[in-house]
Amino acid sequence: MNEQKDTVSIIVPCYNEEATIRAFYEEVVLVMKQCRSDYELLFVDDGSKDRTLQTAIELSENDERVSYLSLSRNFGKESAMYAGLCNANGDYVVIIDADLQHPPSMILDMYDVLKHDESYDGVAAKRVTRDGDPWLRTWFSRRFYKLFNRFSDIDVQDGSGDFRMMRRGMVEAVIAMDEYNRFSKGILSWIGFNTCWLSFENKDRVAGESKWSFWKLLRYAIDGITSFSQAPLYAASWLGIGLTVLSVMAIAFIVIRKLMFGDPVAGWASTICVIIFIGGIQLCVLGIIGQYLAKTYMETKGRPHYVVSRSNRDNVIRIK
Ligand code: UDP
Ligand code: MG
Repeated sequence: MNEQKDTVSIIVPCYNEEATIRAFYEEVVLVMKQCRSDYELLFVDDGSKDRTLQTAIELSENDERVSYLSLSRNFGKESAMYAGLCNANGDYVVIIDADLQHPPSMILDMYDVLKHDESYDGVAAKRVTRDGDPWLRTWFSRRFYKLFNRFSDIDVQDGSGDFRMMRRGMVEAVIAMDEYNRFSKGILSWIGFNTCWLSFENKDRVAGESKWSFWKLLRYAIDGITSFSQAPLYAASWLGIGLTVLSVMAIAFIVIRKLMFGDPVAGWASTICVIIFIGGIQLCVLGIIGQYLAKTYMETKGRPHYVVSRSNRDNVIRIK
């Protein structure tokens, strides 16, 4: 009997990965030889400034399973992944980094899980160590996940990344979440579905360097929280209420003291301290409100997530 083969789409967001992309390709080809399914390899060049695109083009010319999308500028990994998802045709879709920090051999394990267990809609990889990362980054990441899970309605696993395989249904759901401010970990948790978690050890990049600076990560963390939680807004309101109650009590105290003891010379320093303190809190709270307002502003513009400038594929969704 001639059984219809499935296709696995492997999406690879790449930004300045000329040093890694060939090694990555070779490893994926080796791994996928052992897979019973067909596959397509889709490089999404996220506006790289080096020879990433040229390399992807060369690879695509020599291997028909390879294709590329080139975005018109650097849109960020979230947008690059979205572009890949929108254009992947496979029954199963994998998202994987180009730097070999995500072991391609795990694609086989993921495929096996989905093939043999109908109850799972996706398989995600979870890092059990963060050995390649600086300790400060590790520490902040851990705190972030604790805070995030506490204050948002959804649950994100510490160590979960974007490396995963999904069935079509799950992919469609991710595409349908077309918010402009994308926080994949939150989106993937929000859509639900049954996900199987596999562990892996963190590895250093094979070459090149990470595009994430500490400040970029901090911004990403704030984006994540404001995208999936209203807790900071509630906290701001409670703080306001608390301070109001406190100040009413203080005013009552001062009035009673004046009636009983007259008006001794008031402290200038303490007054200034209180003014600065209250002013600081007000600015903080305004900042929190501003974060949400900025998000709303960007969402209402309804700008596309990505723009494709070049590709070797037919029927590309160029703008979405
Ligand atoms: N990446 C991207 N656009 C960006 C930044 C990164 O497509 O603006 C890609 C990058 O090429 C890599 C993956 O996202 O394939 C993960 O990036 P990186 O290794 O810098 O992140 P880290 O592993 O340090 O979290
Ligand atoms: Mg990396």
